[in-house]
Amino acid sequence: MRERVVIIGSGPAGWTAAIYAARANLQPLVFEGALTAENQMKGTAPLGQLNLTTEVENFPTWPYVDSEILAGFSKSALPPERYEQLQHFYHGRHAHHGKRAAFGPEMMEYARQQAVNFGTRIITDDIVQVDFQKYPLVLTASRGDIVESLTVIVATGARANYLGLPSEDRFKNNGVSACAVCDGALPRFRNKPVVVIGGGDSAVEESTYLSKFASPVYLVHRRDKLRASQIMQERAFNNTKIQLKWNRTLEEVVGTDDDGVTGVRLRSTVDNETEELAASGLFLAIGHTPNTDFLGGQVALDDKGYIVWTKPQRTYTSVPGVFAAGDVADSYYRQAVTAAGTGCMAALDAERWLAEHGEL
Ligand code: NAP
Repeated sequence: MRERVVIIGSGPAGWTAAIYAARANLQPLVFEGALTAENQMKGTAPLGQLNLTTEVENFPTWPYVDSEILAGFSKSALPPERYEQLQHFYHGRHAHHGKRAAFGPEMMEYARQQAVNFGTRIITDDIVQVDFQKYPLVLTASRGDIVESLTVIVATGARANYLGLPSEDRFKNNGVSACAVCDGALPRFRNKPVVVIGGGDSAVEESTYLSKFASPVYLVHRRDKLRASQIMQERAFNNTKIQLKWNRTLEEVVGTDDDGVTGVRLRSTVDNETEELAASGLFLAIGHTPNTDFLGGQVALDDKGYIVWTKPQRTYTSVPGVFAAGDVADSYYRQAVTAAGTGCMAALDAERWLAEHGEL
């Protein structure tokens, strides 16, 4: 079947594009990603990076509210099988009590449902190959489905980086993680020291989150100044469980196959001295890589691998009919709200493109 708009990706950009395209009667089809262990491991599972975070305090319209109210909202807004995905926030050991902002996974379930409410169709699979030499544009999914579409919106986001040390690889899922929110509550970290690498907002956010379970949290940064925003820096400095380790890089993750991570070896960038810290875990927060491999070089990318917008203030890419939204085309702002904004732009661009080409 020939589609009018296919959206690849299911973070804030993808769902906003879907909501706008669906409300324009374009019956968009979203490939939301596959539920595979590999995607979980790489941080490329459905619902994007927001699904890997806790409270989202900077998305307008979500002030603090009682967690029970959000539980009721979720129950009313979502079908039972999707509400089920959020249950652990409301009931059981990890339930949240008191006032809070909406969690990232809640926001993404709401956005997904909003898209569904207006007629968006969803396939839970990855697009693994494209042929943009052909028109209509051709997309191949991992299970072999082939879809032709008049326009495509790429909203596949970005994934967390690792340092690439062999010892880091060895202990992945055994103490090494790039997602504190996913793994931080595991018993192995409870009241034990952990190490976070990085100096940006993510590093501070992860350290703050980890400080609820682990102690102390060593925040290791390669310089003597954090890159994080002022408010986040203050959070780190005021948290007595977070200990800053300035001017240090990670040389090796130390551990055993039985115990996983037991420590790290750091090297000073000032005097080249090494030191070993006992730690039950290592969390990487050193930036992201855009998810563009599946495009096979058919869309122009910048030197960091992000998709290039070829017209100022438009989501056009180097391929006619292909638009890009969210973090996959943004190495600069990378916010949920900017991703949502560009998702809206991409849907409007696609709609106008279809109108200009006599396809509406
Ligand atoms: P980021 O701002 O790019 O920071 C990456 C950090 O990792 C930098 O401090 C960098 O050091 C360090 N780093 C990079 N490569 C490294 C390496 N090989 N070895 C050691 N350290 C390395 O990334 P981010 O923190 O993920 O933030 C990305 C965007 O998301 C930002 O716009 C941020 O504001 C936003 N964000 C916002 C929030 C929030 O508002 N709550 C939370 C998370 C993220 P240098 O500083 O020396 O370059």
